[in-house]
Amino acid sequence: MRRALAALLLALPVAAQPAEPSGHDRLARDLYRELVEIRTVHPDGDNTAAARAMARRLLEAGFDAKDVEVVEPAPRKGNLVARLRGTGELRPLLLLAHIDVVEAKAEDWSDGLDPFRLIEKDGYYYGRGTLDDKAMAAIFVASLVRLRAEGFRPKRDIVVALTADEEGGTHNGVAWLLRHRRELVDAEFALNEGGAGTLRDGKPWIHGVQVGEKMYLSFDLEATHPGGHSSVPTRDNAIYDLAAALSGVARLELPARVGYVTRAHFARLANIESGELAEAIAAVAAGRADDAQLRRVSAEPRYNAQLRTTCVATKLEGGHAENALPQRAKAVVNCRLLPGEDPDFVLRELQRAAGERVRVKARGAPRASEATDARSPVMRTIERVSESMWPGVPVVPLMSAGATDGSRLRNAGIPTYGVSGLFLEHGEVRIHGRDERLAVKSFVEGTEFLHRLVKALAAGE
Ligand SMILES: [Zn+2]
Repeated sequence: MRRALAALLLALPVAAQPAEPSGHDRLARDLYRELVEIRTVHPDGDNTAAARAMARRLLEAGFDAKDVEVVEPAPRKGNLVARLRGTGELRPLLLLAHIDVVEAKAEDWSDGLDPFRLIEKDGYYYGRGTLDDKAMAAIFVASLVRLRAEGFRPKRDIVVALTADEEGGTHNGVAWLLRHRRELVDAEFALNEGGAGTLRDGKPWIHGVQVGEKMYLSFDLEATHPGGHSSVPTRDNAIYDLAAALSGVARLELPARVGYVTRAHFARLANIESGELAEAIAAVAAGRADDAQLRRVSAEPRYNAQLRTTCVATKLEGGHAENALPQRAKAVVNCRLLPGEDPDFVLRELQRAAGERVRVKARGAPRASEATDARSPVMRTIERVSESMWPGVPVVPLMSAGATDGSRLRNAGIPTYGVSGLFLEHGEVRIHGRDERLAVKSFVEGTEFLHRLVKALAAGE
C-alpha cells in the first residue's frame, strides 16, 4: 500500500510532463527539432545547413559517404540526396520533402512560441515547418536510419531527397535535380507532401492522398485614363472602371468539370457527409447531378475548388494622388486551373466578365500538371497500410487546390503520391500562417505509418 502510494507520488510529476519518446520515435523527434530550428526562409535562410545536418545524421548511422550527397547549386540552396541500396530487382522509390519554409516573425506568433524553436505544448509541436514540410523530411530520414538498423534489404533503392526553394526563390531543388542530376532522383514513383488525414472531433475521418494538383496562374487587370484635376471630375474614371470589372469577375463561375479524381473523391465523401449535401455529392460522383445539386456542392468552398477552375481578386492598387483623377487602377486575380484547363479559355472568360474598359493579361504561363493514376497498385498498398493504422478510415484520392513539387515529378514521368499519414483537425489552416503546429500523437502515428508504407513499397508489395 505504502509502496503503491510512493510509486504514485513518484509518477505524478512525470505524468504532468509530456511523455519522452523512445527509440525510433525519439530519433524522428530529434531530427524534427534540428530541422525546425535551422532557419530555411528565402532568401537568407540556409537550406544547405539543414541538408548537411541530415547528411551528418545518416553518416553517423553508418551510411556510406557515396550514398549521402549534398548538392548545392547556389549558396544556401543545398539539397540532400541519400540512398539505402536495394537488390536492384525493382526501380527506386523516391521520398521527397522540401526543407525550405515560409517566413515567420516571432512577434506575429502567440506568446511563449518562437517559429524557429520546436516547442511542445498542450499535446502539439509548434514551429515553422512543423507541418510544411519538416515533419515528412525528419520522418523520411529517421525511417532510412531505422530500415538500415533493422538490416532491411529492399527490392529497390530507397532515395530520400530533401530540397530547397519549394515555397519560393529561384533555385527549386527538384527542378534542378531533374535537369542536372536526374540519375540521383530517378524513380519508378515517389511519395511527397500534399496529402493529409482529417480529424473530426479529434478522430480520424478521412485519409487524403494527393494524386494531382491544380495549375497556378495570375492575371493582371488594368484600367487607364488620361487623368486630370479632381476638382473637375469626368464620368469615366479608371478606379470606377476597375471596380465594375471586378464586380463582373466576382460573379464569374467557370464550368464544373468532373474528372476521375473528383469522382473518386466525391464517391468517398458521399458516405461520410450527411443529408442533402451527401445526396448532392453522390449525384456529382455518379455524373447525374442536376443544377440545384451542383449549386449545393459548389456552395462549399473546398468542394467547389475540386469541381472547377477558380479565380479570385487578391491585390488592388490605383490612383497617384488624393487630388487627381486616377490615370491607372490595377488588380491581380489569382486563378487555380483544373488540370487540362486551357489558359486562353480562362483569359477569354475573365475578359468577358471584366468588360471592355479593362485590359486582362496573363502573368506568364502555368506549369502543366499531369495526374497520377489513383487506381494503381501503389494506391492499393497505401490503402492497406492505412487500414492497418486507422481501420475503417477511407483513403480518398485528392487533387490539391494548391501547388507542390509533385507536379514537377509527375511532368517528368515519375508518378507521385502526396501521402503523409499526418492527421489535422478539420478546418484548421495554419500552414504558412501563425502558430503552425502538429499534434504530437499525429507525428508519432505518421512516423509509424510512413515507415510501414516505405517498407511495403520497397519490398515490392
Ligand atoms: Zn510544402
